[in-house]
Amino acid sequence: MANKVTKIGVMTSGGDSPGMNAAIRAVVRTGIYYGLEIFGIMRGYSGMIENDIVPMHSRSVANIIQRGGTVLKTARCKEFFEKEGRKKAYDNLKQIGVDGIVVIGGDGSFRGADIFAREYDIPCIGLPGTIDKDIAGTDFTIGFDTAVNTAVEAIDKIRDTADAHDRLFIIEVMGRDAGYIALHSGIATGAEHILIPERKTDMEELILSLQEKEKRKKLVNMVVVAEGDDFGGAYEVAKLVKERLPNAETRVAILGHIQRGGSPSCLDRLIASRMGYAAVECLMYGRHNVMVGILNNKMHYTPLEKAVKAKQRISDEWLKIVKILAS
Ligand code: ADP
Repeated sequence: MANKVTKIGVMTSGGDSPGMNAAIRAVVRTGIYYGLEIFGIMRGYSGMIENDIVPMHSRSVANIIQRGGTVLKTARCKEFFEKEGRKKAYDNLKQIGVDGIVVIGGDGSFRGADIFAREYDIPCIGLPGTIDKDIAGTDFTIGFDTAVNTAVEAIDKIRDTADAHDRLFIIEVMGRDAGYIALHSGIATGAEHILIPERKTDMEELILSLQEKEKRKKLVNMVVVAEGDDFGGAYEVAKLVKERLPNAETRVAILGHIQRGGSPSCLDRLIASRMGYAAVECLMYGRHNVMVGILNNKMHYTPLEKAVKAKQRISDEWLKIVKILAS
């Protein structure tokens, strides 16, 4: 067994995602169960540097499992990129006696944690908290399931109005680098086309397909676009479609930040609880500087330096399914 951890700091960092509160709760309650002291670090690495660190008790996390957002707040912190910033953070943690950290965030936050853990003697554990699902070493990220369900609910509503007016809707969902929200929500709502950053968008093919559908009098068409698609977002796509299909009644809907909010789904609460529990055990049993993930329904531990944005391959079969089912 490695050095015994006695005081754990928990924080949320980078982009927020629904289910982060469930993860915080799991870390706090598991730590207390094992007789450890738990501290909440406010606003990501900013709170570490500014010494905004508060003791947490079992009651501090009462009634939060069902709440979106994060009670610890989150932030992006420029100072942490600098050695001096990280030194300040270390001095504050050392003064309190924090000897282990759980960072709930995305790959950027893990990069920060990895650098910090290499520089100083405070082990860090990462929990994947991002709606984008673009992290290696895990089938799930905390927040993706909720975000994609929010998108599905919104797109279903758009389909109703699209149907009433025979309109073509171009719907933009979140995903700057990853198309998972677009792909999952698009398939689940019966979108005709899904445009994602992982695949070069062939606009000619899209236009031809829409023209062909127009000829066949397929009146309701929905195109789901990830915000980071290489051709551009929904407005760019709509502009070209309007030029090439002047008769189509085209509308744009940008779903935006609603995808980040809301009460976390059952799945997100469940994985957040399992991961939070596992993070404390990692610190206790010396499995340091890893990201906790779940692969094939088993806990899986990836060294922090490898838990960076995964350019996971989008399955060709999934894209084939989109084409076949939307015909
Ligand atoms: P996310 O964790 O959602 O990917 P960011 O990429 O914005 O979000 O990262 C969150 C924070 O992590 C940054 O604001 C910064 O404080 C810290 N961080 C990210 N990359 C590094 C790095 N290379 N060195 C030090 N800190 C970093």
